[in-house]
Amino acid sequence: MTNSVNEASKTEIEQANTRSRIALPDGAAVPRIGQGTWNIGEDASRRSEEVEALRLGVGLGMNLIDTAEMYGEGRSETLVGEAMQGIRDKVFLVSKVYPHNAGLKRIVKSCEDSLNRLRTDCLDLYLLHWRGSVPLEETVEGMERLVQQGKIARWGVSNFDTDDMEELFRLARGTHCVTNQVLYHLGSRGIEFDLLPWQRERQMPLMAYSPLAQAGALRKGLVQNEAVREIAAAHGASPLQVLLAWCIREGDVIAIPKAASREHVLQNAAAALIDLSEEELRLLDKAFPEPVRKMPLDII
Ligand code: NDP
Repeated sequence: MTNSVNEASKTEIEQANTRSRIALPDGAAVPRIGQGTWNIGEDASRRSEEVEALRLGVGLGMNLIDTAEMYGEGRSETLVGEAMQGIRDKVFLVSKVYPHNAGLKRIVKSCEDSLNRLRTDCLDLYLLHWRGSVPLEETVEGMERLVQQGKIARWGVSNFDTDDMEELFRLARGTHCVTNQVLYHLGSRGIEFDLLPWQRERQMPLMAYSPLAQAGALRKGLVQNEAVREIAAAHGASPLQVLLAWCIREGDVIAIPKAASREHVLQNAAAALIDLSEEELRLLDKAFPEPVRKMPLDII
């Protein structure tokens, strides 16, 4: 294997993504790096590139695709459905229900609409997008019914803080939840104080959204940081690849970067080749310290 991440072959990248999978509590294996899809399917002129980018990502082992009924009010799911033609069996498909659709009256219809747009008959994972006014107990019942009907294989939550997870786990079937998807990147480490340890105690992997800190000032501060740049240079990688490698460093966090071009997908997949050393992790801790007290959950 070459020492420079960005000179690695597609085979090396694919092997890095497929050799170390993460096991969900029910044993299902998912990659450490998947693919987000917020804001895709919005621009007709970019459509074929977005479809090809997702397909390339699946081929490189980033075969978890994350979408939601909210994204473009179904346009993201429609594009994902197109991208999965002929490769549905290779994809671990995740979608999310709006909180206002997560009651017994609406959840089946929401799920069926997602399945239609995604051109599939079963989701691998269905998440409650965030907590709304529907009682948790009712959403759990709805999710369990969808499992019984074969419309979803398993369910989880998103944007839940530790107290929400505790409340969920007090419900009879709340412990069937397999993951919690929250914002997590080098510049937002608050969950390391309590939520991440809480999930680790229960062997529940966490899904990290916005692992590249989206685009904007916050990301700029991360990619221009001296430690991040030095570590990137040492691996023949980019600062954003270091951010991804950092996110998945413990082997129980699934990062879901969104990328709309083949080039970005290739770079994100190649981040799986980076093993950060203890010294590099120490440098990153120094630049972006871990939390020493409870922090409010960051949300988009
Ligand atoms: P990300 O942190 O993944 O950043 C996405 C941005 O990074 C895009 O502008 C993308 O550009 C750019 N990018 C991707 N790869 C590269 C690269 N290699 N080099 C340079 N730029 C790159 O942000 P998101 O907020 O999209 O988070 C990821 C996913 O998480 C979402 O798409 C969604 O699936 C999920 N999510 C879930 C939420 C929830 O509430 N559960 C909330 C927010 C996100 P380009 O598109 O041009 O490639």
